[in-house]
Formats: sequence, C-alpha cells, structure tokens
Amino acid sequence: MTDRSAVNILVLDDESFMLKLLGRILLNLGFTSVIFCDNGRSALEQITDASGRPNLILLDLNMPEMDGIEFVRHLVDRHYSGSLILISGEDERMLQTAEKLVRAHKIPILGYLHKPVKPDALSAMLEKWTPPPAEAIGVAKKVYSSDELRAAIDNGELINYYQPKVAVATGELIGVETLARWRHPVDGLIFPDQFISIAEASGLIDKLTRVVFMGAMTQVKAWEEAHLPLRIAVNVSMDNLASLDFLNFVAEITTKLGVAAHNVVLEVTETRLMQDTRAPLEILTRLRLKRFRLSIDDFGTGHSSLAQLRDIPFDELKIDQGFVHGAWKDETLRAMYDASLSLARQLEMEVVAEGVEDRNDWDLLRRTGCDLAQGTFMSRPMLAADLPGWIEKWRERVRKESLTAGDSK
Ligand code: C2E
Ligand code: CA
Ligand code: CA
Repeated sequence: MTDRSAVNILVLDDESFMLKLLGRILLNLGFTSVIFCDNGRSALEQITDASGRPNLILLDLNMPEMDGIEFVRHLVDRHYSGSLILISGEDERMLQTAEKLVRAHKIPILGYLHKPVKPDALSAMLEKWTPPPAEAIGVAKKVYSSDELRAAIDNGELINYYQPKVAVATGELIGVETLARWRHPVDGLIFPDQFISIAEASGLIDKLTRVVFMGAMTQVKAWEEAHLPLRIAVNVSMDNLASLDFLNFVAEITTKLGVAAHNVVLEVTETRLMQDTRAPLEILTRLRLKRFRLSIDDFGTGHSSLAQLRDIPFDELKIDQGFVHGAWKDETLRAMYDASLSLARQLEMEVVAEGVEDRNDWDLLRRTGCDLAQGTFMSRPMLAADLPGWIEKWRERVRKESLTAGDSK
C-alpha cells in the first residue's frame, strides 16, 4: 500500500474556490502532497520539474487561457506518465468526448467529474485508483538528450519497422507505414514517443527523417524487385516542411532509386499542421504536383480547421486509433468515426482506419466501406524481413476466418 502522503497530486482549475474545495477533499482522504495551479502555464512548469512530477492531475476542462484539451497535448509532449481526472461543468457528452481524447493519447484516466464536484464521487474514484508503488514515484521514463539522439542517428541505431495497410474490401496488402525505432545498445528498443519530440525540439528532425526516408525507399525498391510492389508511407513532421530542402531531398532520392512518387505516402500530423501554414502549404502542394501522396494523420485529435483541410490537397485521411477501436459499440466514438469517414468521402480522399485491433473493429470497417485498415488485428509493426512470412499467414487468415466473405453492407 502506498503512503498517500507520498503521492504528488496537482490540481489545475482557474477558479480559486474550486481549488480550495478539491484541496479540502483530498486532504480529508489523506493526500497531503497537493500542488494548486490556476493556469496551464504554471502547471506545466511543475510537470517539467522532475522532482515534483505529479502522479495524478485533477484537470478542469474550461479555463480561459489554455484550456484542458490543450493542456493534455502539452502533457503528451512532456511524456507525462501519471494519471488524470477530468472536471467540468460541461454536459455529459462533452466530458465523454474529452475522455476519449485523453485515452487516444494513452494517458491513464480515472474518469470525469461534473461540477460542482461531490466529495463522495471524487473519493470513490480515488479509492479505486492504485497509486504507483512508492519506489516508482518520481521515476519517469528516461529522457534522452539531443546529443545522445544525434550520436544514435550517426551510429545507425535507428531502424525502420513497417506496419501493413490492407484493403478492407479484398484483404489485399496495399502498403506499409514506416515507424522508427531506436535500438539502444543498453536500454533496448525505444519507441518514437521517447525520441521524436526531442528530435523536433533540437533541430534533429530533418536528419532523422532523412535517415528513415532513405531506409524506407531502399526497402520498398528491394520489395519491388522481389515482386512485391507496395506503397510506402513515411511520417513527416511539420518541421520538415519549413524549407524547400526537404522537397528537393524527397524528389532526388526517389528519382535516384527509381521509386515512383505515387507509391510514396507522406503522413503529416494534423495538430501541427494547422499552426503555421504558408511554407508547409507551398511544399505540400508542390509535393502533390510531383504526384507524391499526402496523408493527414491522426485525424480527429487536433483542433482541425476544415477550411485548411480543404486547401491542402490530401489524398488520404487517417482516422485516429482513438476513434476506431471500439467504435462499433460506443456511440460517441462511432459519431467521430462516421463524421471523419463522410468528410473524407466529400473531399474524395482515401480513408485509413488506424487502431483496428479485433474482428469487431474490422467488421465495422467493412460495413461502413472504409478503404484501408491498419492495426494489431492485422499486425504490429515488424522488421522488413518478417513481411513475406506475415503475408502468407495473413492470406490464410483472410480465407479461413472469412474476413472478406459475403456482402459487406
Ligand atoms: P502514428 O503515425 O499514428 O503511428 C501509429 C502508431 O500506432 C504506431 O506507434 C503503431 O505502432 C501504433 N499502432 C498500430 N496499430 C495499433 C493498434 O491496433 N492499436 C494501438 N493501440 N496502436 C497501434 P509507434 O510506432 O509507437 O509510433 C508513434 C508515433 O510516432 C507515430 O504515430 C508517429 O506520429 C511518430 N513516428 C514514428 N516514426 C516516425 C518518424 O520516422 N518520423 C516522425 N516524424 N514521426 C514518427
Ligand atoms: Ca503515421
Ligand atoms: Ca496516426
């Protein structure tokens, strides 16, 4: 049992009486190490300070400067590893949607509370929560320095994994998405959430993207020569689209290796897409003119501006996994899923559903006529060498499990 006084809690609400009220409830429950903030900026300073990292945050959604949803985005950037409780005066539906967004970011959420907060409701939620064991408190995921990352890139420690994207109607493998991994000599396999934002913050993202892109193009050419023609997707950061160098690099490499532009998909994340638009808009448009395929990634999680979405000639829209897995049984998710799908249809984009984890998810895609599926139901990301073996097994599954049998409508 963790000593409650050792658990760090942060309460963020712009109303001071709410801070007092919540503080009193927490104190009565034995949580004595509580920090109060009345705005997102000062709360973020607490998160950044390693010694006082909270294990739990009580977060008000409605705040004048930085709202709760934006705050969550910053938590993700800072690799916040604790839990969260949402609080709001908004209606049930709004809170449910916010909860989905948080889950999509993989932050453990204990639940949400309506204002005015009832002490019993909060204490019931905390009773069910298992705070991290004492020895784990304060230990966050390792944070790597930009020097370490730079050395890793130079030493060839970044390797590409590939995840299948399959046609829902036929089960056919259409392409793969390239996902970077860092094979750390001591710490093992490190996932992108621990190094992409460092690369972006320290100006290493161009170098990183080039290494990943180069590896992906070499690989797709090798597959093509082995009679396995595939589309290849690479994740592109908004920072890559700040200068024309990237455009030239992409055009040169593909020409040199003989990879057709229409088989190259550039996945851009919507959230960063909408901030500063002129240079990226020009570069994206020119890439499109050269027939590279543009994909809008993680659709649904950002503050999307439909007008800008229309301005950029995307070929593909990827519905975020947070709105796909379980959408067959959850009305709110289903509404987000349907809206994304119909928007993509209107703008004549191809739709990829991410986070397809089980047969129910797959069947929803079939019923709704989604184009492509990606997720653990088909396969986790894998090494290039494992792809041919996977294809064999997948074909057999499509047949045996009748994945494409019958009328999908
Ligand atoms: P993303 O582009 O949205 O990639 C999909 C992520 O979802 C991958 O995580 C993948 O492993 C995971 N995933 C796949 N299927 C499922 C599923 O069925 N359920 C669940 N829950 N998750 C699934 P990964 O590889 O950890 O990558 C995380 C993010 O890192 C990517 O999200 C992408 O934004 C970024 N990233 C990865 N490689 C690169 C890169 O080379 N450059 C840039 N700029 N970003 C990258
Ligand atoms: Ca992606
Ligand atoms: Ca995505």
